[in-house]
Amino acid sequence: MKKISFYSLFLFLIILSSCKKDNTSVLPTDIKAITNPPIVVSPVAPPTAATDSTMLMGNPSNATANEADFSNYLMKEGYYSVSYNRDLGRSNWVSWHVVTTDYGSVARQDDFRVNPNLPSSWYGVTPSSFSPYVFDKGHMCPSADRTSSIEANSSTFLMTNIVAQAPNNNQRTWANLENYCRDSLVNRLGNELYIISGVYGEGGIGNNGVVTNTLDNGRVSVPAYLWKVIVVLKNGNNDLNRVANNTRVISVVMPNDNNIGSDWRSYRTSVDFIEQATGYDVLSKVSTAIQSVIEARVDNQ
Ligand code: MN
Ligand code: MN
Repeated sequence: MKKISFYSLFLFLIILSSCKKDNTSVLPTDIKAITNPPIVVSPVAPPTAATDSTMLMGNPSNATANEADFSNYLMKEGYYSVSYNRDLGRSNWVSWHVVTTDYGSVARQDDFRVNPNLPSSWYGVTPSSFSPYVFDKGHMCPSADRTSSIEANSSTFLMTNIVAQAPNNNQRTWANLENYCRDSLVNRLGNELYIISGVYGEGGIGNNGVVTNTLDNGRVSVPAYLWKVIVVLKNGNNDLNRVANNTRVISVVMPNDNNIGSDWRSYRTSVDFIEQATGYDVLSKVSTAIQSVIEARVDNQ
């Protein structure tokens, strides 16, 4: 009898303590947390495989996730997709989708690091591969396009999303186009964007006019050109089916040269030009009839 009542008391205490835990009534130690809550940004999950918007417009080089495909290795990072070239130590192209919900308040994480998802026998390019910093660690998918969560932003600092980019190209011309996409096309004009960005050729001109073919003892190829294709659609659904003959497509090719001009508009070209230079088929999921129209046009807006 005595044993049972002790046990009941014990149970009572457990129930009481668990009630206290669930109770939202404010204890003195919680007051600061309630009045000054930590900043919590609800994360936007990367698209699932079924709605893979990062490659909705196609896979320009038919990259595969097969290790034997070492010069055209597909890496789906969720927030963007990459065709990676093992022997050049850089991506061929990166593809992603941008909608307003991708923009949040997360700070730039700056956690440049080796991509842990590379096949284990492959060399992992590191942030120090770029020292002594003749070239910037240039993002393909920009950090500022992925600020909805720490995870999203951090994903852009995997070195597989980074190319050796002349500082004036990265910080001025390229950055101006990135800002135009965010400030004007998405935030002001209410568009969503499909962006495919890549590089080709070897040899760039970095800080102080230093001509460089490779970094890190030949393990990282410095591209000669950077290119980008931006498909502009009004916010909506069924995106692929909405790409039409009058869809605005902005394509640029910029030399990886520190003497580059700052106006991105003067580097506009056609998708056809990029396809000839790279051998890729960009926007391959769009019907060939529509591709033939939108890929021949050079944006002039
Ligand atoms: Mn950049
Ligand atoms: Mn095409």
